[in-house]
Amino acid sequence: MPRSKQDLSKKHISAEVCILGAGPAGLAAAWEMARAGVIDVVVLERQEGPGGLARTESFREQGYDLGPHRFFTSNKEVKQLWREVLGDDFQPVQRLTRIFYRDRFFRYPIAAADALPRLGLWQAGLALASFARAQLGPAPAQARSFDEWVSASFGPRLYETFFKVYTEKVWGVPCREISADWAAQRIKGLDLWGVARRALRFGGGRQAKTLAEEFDYPRLGAGQMSEQMRLKLEDAGLRFYFNQDVQKVHVRGDRIIAVEVPGMRIEAGHFLSSIPITSFMGSIQPKPEEALLRSSERLGWRDHITVDLDVEGEALFPDQWIYVHDPGVKMARLANYANFSKDMAATGRTPVSVEYFCFQGDALWRMADEDLVDLAKDELSRMGLLSSASVAAGRVRRESESYPSYVLGWRQHFEPLRRFVDSLINLQAIGRGGMFKYNNMDHSVYSGILAARNLTGADGAPFDLWRINIDAKYQEAAIRPT
Ligand SMILES: Cc1cc2nc3c(=O)[nH]c(=O)nc-3n(C[C@H](O)[C@H](O)[C@H](O)COP(=O)(O)OP(=O)(O)OC[C@H]3O[C@@H](n4cnc5c(N)ncnc54)[C@H](O)[C@@H]3O)c2cc1C
Repeated sequence: MPRSKQDLSKKHISAEVCILGAGPAGLAAAWEMARAGVIDVVVLERQEGPGGLARTESFREQGYDLGPHRFFTSNKEVKQLWREVLGDDFQPVQRLTRIFYRDRFFRYPIAAADALPRLGLWQAGLALASFARAQLGPAPAQARSFDEWVSASFGPRLYETFFKVYTEKVWGVPCREISADWAAQRIKGLDLWGVARRALRFGGGRQAKTLAEEFDYPRLGAGQMSEQMRLKLEDAGLRFYFNQDVQKVHVRGDRIIAVEVPGMRIEAGHFLSSIPITSFMGSIQPKPEEALLRSSERLGWRDHITVDLDVEGEALFPDQWIYVHDPGVKMARLANYANFSKDMAATGRTPVSVEYFCFQGDALWRMADEDLVDLAKDELSRMGLLSSASVAAGRVRRESESYPSYVLGWRQHFEPLRRFVDSLINLQAIGRGGMFKYNNMDHSVYSGILAARNLTGADGAPFDLWRINIDAKYQEAAIRPT
């Protein structure tokens, strides 16, 4: 008679495949599996709904993402999946985003021909001279830290003006402590000479046509994509369990045999994990060796707070979002969802969110909700974007592990974890947190698709998921967190 101890206080379920996390990566994996006819799939999610960092929540009948999310990809399969899921509800949006710096707005991406004229002739001249000197110095590839990389690419002057303050707001550490890896992954070169030529010839002020941008967006917010996927997948017979925090991952030898959430034990043949790799490591039973746990504790994240405001009035400002470089305010970015899709706003009102980047437990994180709402109102009115009196209500959302933190030395802590994850033969790590990758949605989605194909033995399998996003084409003309 086979013997294995059973905890009878828990419900036991089993599945062919168990997916941890119902964000874009987990959902894409489930979708691809269903497409291949594998429906004995369980998805575990700690939130009350799907979408992860790309979810949309309703507040006073308006829609708010967790910070602005645009859908953009050069990956045809991902694009096709998004279209297949939402059809006509996936709409093109003409992008307008600006930078707010020292009481002025700069078009973004900053390569726009308006940047130099707005700096003023003298500052623009200094920026160009500094850029020219940088081209004669060491190549960015030799840089160790973020400040070295950006200064080598664009010159110290542009680094100081357009990168330093904002980047430090986002990451909470000096730029010299941020790894050059991250800059190289996310920043594209600027054709400053081209910008200067255009600015001089045309007097500047207008954005070059090549920089005009469009992105796609679901009519009811980023999270509509995930909601729709979940509905279709449930219809197809896949099982979703929400409000289920994975707390234990039972490993025997080189396999995961089960995972546990409070009240339930799930056994499966294969596991896909998109939960933060550090939470995953902390859940392993029996506990892995001490050195691994130490590495996991040292791998860092940046967390963030979103203050959602219900504002009276329409057409407050034309941008979908604004990057706030100004050192005089703590906010790093704000978004106006009415400019993403009119259907996210109620008549006569506008859903606006303000983002503060922080670390769990720091002073901002611990601030009372009312104080955070007041701070956001006060900063917005000081920036001249709206008056405090026009804010009918506000609420606060705190999100942990929003950004994998690529501070110097991160790789040394990460590599042992990656080797451990790879050593488990029925596990694939997917997605942003699962792989500790600074993914956009498309990269996460693609990791889910390929992980599913590895399981279904699709043409071309096995795919090496770690290679996704290595030479990403998805880059901005300057660095911003997404
Ligand atoms: C402010 C902000 C703006 C962004 N803007 C853009 C943008 O404009 N365009 C773009 O393409 N990308 C953007 N991104 C990135 C995008 O949100 C992510 O790439 C995407 O959500 C990652 O999907 P994922 O499934 O890999 O991870 P996640 O979205 O993090 O999903 C992981 C899921 O696992 C769940 N989970 C975690 N721990 C547990 C546990 N213990 N048990 C059970 N479930 C758990 C989480 O609740 C979550 O639902 C932005 C991100 C942020 C933070």
